[in-house]
Amino acid sequence: MAGPVSVLPPLEHPPSRPRLTPLSLAVFPRLATAALDLVFPALCAVCEARLGPRRRDPLCGPCWDAIDRIAPPFCDRCGGPCATPSSVMGGLDERGWGMGSSDVGSPERGPVSHPLTCARCAAEPPPYDYARSAAVYAGVMREAVHRFKFGGRRALARPLAELMVEQCGTSLPDGIAAIVPVPLAGDRERERGFNQAALLAERIARRLDVPVRARWLARRRATRPQSDLPAGERLANVRGAFRATPAVAGRHVLLVDDVLTTGATLSECARSLRAAAAGRIGVLTVARVR
Ligand SMILES: [Zn+2]
Ligand SMILES: [Zn+2]
Repeated sequence: MAGPVSVLPPLEHPPSRPRLTPLSLAVFPRLATAALDLVFPALCAVCEARLGPRRRDPLCGPCWDAIDRIAPPFCDRCGGPCATPSSVMGGLDERGWGMGSSDVGSPERGPVSHPLTCARCAAEPPPYDYARSAAVYAGVMREAVHRFKFGGRRALARPLAELMVEQCGTSLPDGIAAIVPVPLAGDRERERGFNQAALLAERIARRLDVPVRARWLARRRATRPQSDLPAGERLANVRGAFRATPAVAGRHVLLVDDVLTTGATLSECARSLRAAAAGRIGVLTVARVR
């Protein structure tokens, strides 16, 4: 939605024809949206085209459809799409990542009956028990995440969180006690005005009917932005940067963040939770690189 209904000019109608009262705008949100679009045409947060059919505000239908979703089969441990051994070894292009795309929209959405583990996780298991990502971090998704985080487009939290639940909801294990957003460094959150992981976590929590426990994991110290660092330095940058509260002991915790890149930050968060005796640790991100 482009803005609150209250920005509409006052609607004055003779009592005999009360067709567009504020109440009817509330009752018919689609009508309200159409009315707002006449006044302020809603534009896509990524391509800036007018929002049209299949829109997922603030994304237009074509952008929403162009997101490269990750569908089964995927590695049960890291959530990466499972490809044939040769493409795992040979490096995947974007088509390779989308190899499960033929399953998109099929009723086969349940957990993989026999968990698959990719070669990388088999060789070096991550410190979390499982990870799920909704889409590949490329194209529209990459642009959407950038505009969400760095462009201040908070409204993108809604379609991105919806995508996380739609793509990953049914493959999440049962018994999640709480959702914990990855904490942002205090000064970065003040600069940005929000923690993107927390915005996603709140929406996902409502959809999954699980509480958010942001205080279960805190920053002990500031770190440099991971995106400024080469992959090899990211782990050292975040080592020991987080502390989990004793409340996590024995609990199944789902960590939420926007993107899984090298996994350094999420791995360090998972180590902190493990050190505080968390029972099971999952990771959910809207996007991931390979
Ligand atoms: Zn668009
Ligand atoms: Zn894996």
